[in-house]
Amino acid sequence: TQALLARVQRHAALGAFLAVDEEAALRQARAADERLARGERAPLLGVPIAHKDVLVTRDWPTTAGSRMLAGYRSPFDATVVARLGAGGDGHPGAGAVTLGKLNCDEFAMGSGNDLSAYGPARNPWDPSRVPGGSSGGSAAAVAARLVPAATGTDTGGSIRQPAAFCGVTGIKPTYGRCSRYGLIAYASSLDQAGPIARSARDCALLLSAMAGPDPERDSTSLDHPAEDYARGLDEALPGASAARPLQGLRIGVPVEYFDDRCSADVLAAVRAALAEFERLGATLVEVRLPRTELAIPAYYIIAPAEASSNLSRFDGVRYGHRAAQYADLFEMYCRTRGEGFGPEVQRRILIGTYVLSHGYYDAYYLKAQQIRRLIAQDFLHAFERCDLIAGPVAPTVAWRIGEKADDPVSAYLADIYTLPASLAGLPGMSVPAGFGADGLPVGLQLIGPHLAERRLLHAAHQFQ
Ligand code: GLN
Repeated sequence: TQALLARVQRHAALGAFLAVDEEAALRQARAADERLARGERAPLLGVPIAHKDVLVTRDWPTTAGSRMLAGYRSPFDATVVARLGAGGDGHPGAGAVTLGKLNCDEFAMGSGNDLSAYGPARNPWDPSRVPGGSSGGSAAAVAARLVPAATGTDTGGSIRQPAAFCGVTGIKPTYGRCSRYGLIAYASSLDQAGPIARSARDCALLLSAMAGPDPERDSTSLDHPAEDYARGLDEALPGASAARPLQGLRIGVPVEYFDDRCSADVLAAVRAALAEFERLGATLVEVRLPRTELAIPAYYIIAPAEASSNLSRFDGVRYGHRAAQYADLFEMYCRTRGEGFGPEVQRRILIGTYVLSHGYYDAYYLKAQQIRRLIAQDFLHAFERCDLIAGPVAPTVAWRIGEKADDPVSAYLADIYTLPASLAGLPGMSVPAGFGADGLPVGLQLIGPHLAERRLLHAAHQFQ
């Protein structure tokens, strides 16, 4: 913990951390030492980690990357924070030590971590580039070895895409696999927390602690017991040999993920990864996900719609920022929200309010929900012919900070390969797959059927 706290200081220019509390971290580390000395064991006892700043924490401020929550401190820990750390509510806690909170796009809206009110996080491979987003601080911190692992959240790609851009491993679990209690809501029907780490094995260790039902606090958490995802990672599939450990695994390759929307360098790295999976014994099968392109308009209606509703709680009365001067209640609301929310958040609140409003609801929101259902059906059909789906995470490597600043739609379009699995609630993973243009990392995306996290992590581990 001491060594990493010093390292965090040394690399402050990366902008990965929004808050560090040395005293709190050292207190937790000492408590872990004492537990160890007493002979106690816990899966992550004493391992230093950090949390994306949309997960609320009692011991650190939580800003969600927004001026709206500057100085806010939660009276409780998010369920995943508690489960990774000291536990609570009958959960023993994995014993990890928290160093602090990690930078992210404001309210997790973005793909570059350049939309944080506290300045950008930078990509350790090239600090003039974005680390991806919205969990950019998490991916940058892991890639720069400031922490061995971190939490992130993924609504439409925010774990997978920054993991890809920073050359680390991340998994977005099945929707409902991890409790959303204490995850500041962006789009509630899509939000999921998950780990970002150096390897599939480390992701498995964290996910084992994070996952599991939380019926009292998140009614959408699945009634499916926590699993030990690290168990069996080294074993070959049943009936397969040690030399070809993935024999029998059918990997679906969706044609729609391999067209000219994806840059040539990314395609080359992803194809090389697929060839490696074949060497490991897997079979590649061509599959179709014909509604892939529609995921962008569907997501960018549904997510802002839910955001406009979720963010209505930031009214200057209950949380965070309140305008200093106002004549009446209405002006207090307007000024507070005008000052507290950045331009992208305001844009999405406007879009969301519009698509939910009378007369437009059927034309936009309802249509988007219908498309969402069709996208989920496409995956169900594809999984009749394969066990996992593989493709790129993003169409390019990390872009330069500021490159997409004047063109939000170009950032939305770059989400094309991560949005479909999000809309379908499926687990998805990003695994490092070599390097593309300018020597920057490329990620391979693996998508599984619902609750197939173990299968994803096993395949990724064998590949690594
Ligand atoms: N880039 C997407 C968005 O801006 C996804 C963000 C996320 O997964 N939190 O909404």
